[in-house]
Amino acid sequence: MNTTIMTPITPLFPHLPERLAGLEELAENLWWSWNPGARMLFKTLDRQAWKESGHNPDKMLRELSPVLLEKAATDPEYLLRFDAVMEVFHNYMTIEECRLPGSACHGHKCTVIYFSAEYGLHRSLPFYAGGLGFLAGDFIKECSDLCLPLVAVGFMYPDGYFRQQIRDDGWQENFVESINRDAAPVSRVMDTDGKQLVIRVPLTDPPIYVAIWKVDVGRVPLYLMDTDLELNDPWNRSITARLYDGDLEQRLRQEIILGLGGAQMLKILGIKDYILHLNEGHAAFALLERIRATVSEGKEFTQALNEHIEATIFTTHTPVPAGHDVFPFPLIEKYFHSYWPGLGLDRDAFLKLGIHPENPDSGFNMTAFALRLSGHRNAVSKRHAQVSRQMWHSLWPDVPEDQVPIEYVTNGVHVPTWIEPKIMLLLDRYLKAGWMDRHDDPAIWRDIDIIPDAEMWRTHYFLKMKLIDAIRERSRRRWVNGDAGASMMLTGGVFLDPSVLTIGFARRFATYKRALLIFQDLPRLKKILMSRWRPIQIIFAGKAHPADDPGKRLLQNLITLARDPELGGRIAFVEDYGEQLAQYLVHGVDIWLNNPLPPAEACGTSGMKAALNGVPHLSVLDGWWEEGFNGKNGWGVKHEEIPDDPDGIDAGKIYHLLENEIIPLYYTMSENSIPVEWVKLMKESIKSNAAQFSARRMVREYAEKFYFQSISREKNYEKKHF
Ligand SMILES: *Cc1c(COP(=O)(O)O)cnc(C)c1O
Repeated sequence: MNTTIMTPITPLFPHLPERLAGLEELAENLWWSWNPGARMLFKTLDRQAWKESGHNPDKMLRELSPVLLEKAATDPEYLLRFDAVMEVFHNYMTIEECRLPGSACHGHKCTVIYFSAEYGLHRSLPFYAGGLGFLAGDFIKECSDLCLPLVAVGFMYPDGYFRQQIRDDGWQENFVESINRDAAPVSRVMDTDGKQLVIRVPLTDPPIYVAIWKVDVGRVPLYLMDTDLELNDPWNRSITARLYDGDLEQRLRQEIILGLGGAQMLKILGIKDYILHLNEGHAAFALLERIRATVSEGKEFTQALNEHIEATIFTTHTPVPAGHDVFPFPLIEKYFHSYWPGLGLDRDAFLKLGIHPENPDSGFNMTAFALRLSGHRNAVSKRHAQVSRQMWHSLWPDVPEDQVPIEYVTNGVHVPTWIEPKIMLLLDRYLKAGWMDRHDDPAIWRDIDIIPDAEMWRTHYFLKMKLIDAIRERSRRRWVNGDAGASMMLTGGVFLDPSVLTIGFARRFATYKRALLIFQDLPRLKKILMSRWRPIQIIFAGKAHPADDPGKRLLQNLITLARDPELGGRIAFVEDYGEQLAQYLVHGVDIWLNNPLPPAEACGTSGMKAALNGVPHLSVLDGWWEEGFNGKNGWGVKHEEIPDDPDGIDAGKIYHLLENEIIPLYYTMSENSIPVEWVKLMKESIKSNAAQFSARRMVREYAEKFYFQSISREKNYEKKHF
């Protein structure tokens, strides 16, 4: 990398005493967010201010009084903790060696460039819509922890993803809360003149200008592109305003910026010779820039493609057709007619790259395009690989379906991000020292069995109360603001009872996820919910995509049900599902429910987050749960269709499990009021899933299957040719 990156000279937090200058370093690197010691440094400065800042140190340090900061700077206890955290942080940032065994990175240039349209990193950066974003966020955090040389590329969305508020009639309303770039952990990337780096993306007239920002995610730099510049005309200016614009042309323009603009930015930053990893097809145009450079050196397209294909990895994330972008040919022509000659291609040859053979007239399919131009392709679970091979068989018509070259790497979650700090402390007491450093080793988790049941249960119960408190606090704030909708919120908040078996269901309101399945047989559900001695309660959360009216109707039906006194106040809906609420939910409910319509769930990750915290999974067998379910770590429901009803008898099976296994197990207490058998299940849930579905296991697999392979094969290539 060359020297165009400089940090601004003016101090970000003028009131910060010299002795605590390190807090600025910490605040500007998201490392703090997955290290409890660092988090506590901010929180203990002023708990109220911490809460009000939305756990955003950038915001908090700007607003704290100098007196308070001075006090901390002279408090020996605080300084002791501060110095310890700073030492850990500095050591972390200076490790040089990749920590993966057998790493091919040593002494060989192997920067991985990771492209993703969304990143779920922390509540202060709302650049995500759902699972894809969290996968990307967890992925780059883990690469940082493993010292894998990686640079991430994405978008600065000043409007983020929409916030959700439910109207009195149950309809979802969307509102936008623009982020203040100066009070978020992002910094400007500066050019050699000391101004923010701005690149120019051609292809359009007028050209599009893109400003570059950076988020430090531990050791990984995440570069974000931003078109919200006065230099741009209004249409260009709004390209990166929000995630997944409904307008098709604007969406194509987003993908041009992400792919072509991203590749150009890398060139300006001096990043060359990289392995390109596309997280979903949105950034697939990035594949073209390397090829174009090689073609300009006098090679033919195919030759140029073959030179780069080995260092290209494409990860597909969904079997749902709407998840694959298809652009009408005239739109592609409009933007690319001046581009394809540079690739040595004519119109037809270019458009052919994006054709789905089964549906050649439908348009330019970004997934087909990415599959063709990548040397390594993968799905995100074993089941999803089977489905993807079937979906894309027509691209490889000469091989049998099971040999279609799409492998799989099952997703995982970043353990330090998703494990609850109290659970972490509990494990610190009973697992071997240094367990967190070896958390992808299943053997390290076996000692969970020696945790006393009472201690395990007490910890969980505390987290359940914390969840309920958090929901009530949200209702209170809504009520204070005088919102009529608060009556609905109160229903959930007030009636939630920590002693009741609590089911959590939170995810996007996409129809295939079947949020309302459990209401299929209302009288039967009613009986379960309203049982006098052994009731259950269900907490729902999730947003419907702004353009998804069927999803919104589903949500409205759910709100109506939640408000119906006939269901006893046992159904709660919490607005505005996001990272913070997800944390409370996956830590605090008793069961995590998932009932998608197979095989639409490519993987699913929220269930992994829950399982890691001892919250067993009750799920239809689909996605990761086909690999995770072992018969004793939760419940697996095998989907069965019946004529004329795609939902089949899944709901019946869930009721049956609740009535005959789950509820009796939960409410059978020992003399000291501990549900001993349930605690055993909780332990099994952690023990069997934590290592296997960790982001560390996932990143290791990507490195072994793809990154290291492309390095060694490239080396062979060099040997052969030079
Ligand atoms: C983990 C997570 C998701 C993805 O969950 P799925 O199980 O894949 O649906 C979505 N949103 C948030 C806020 C999350 O934390």
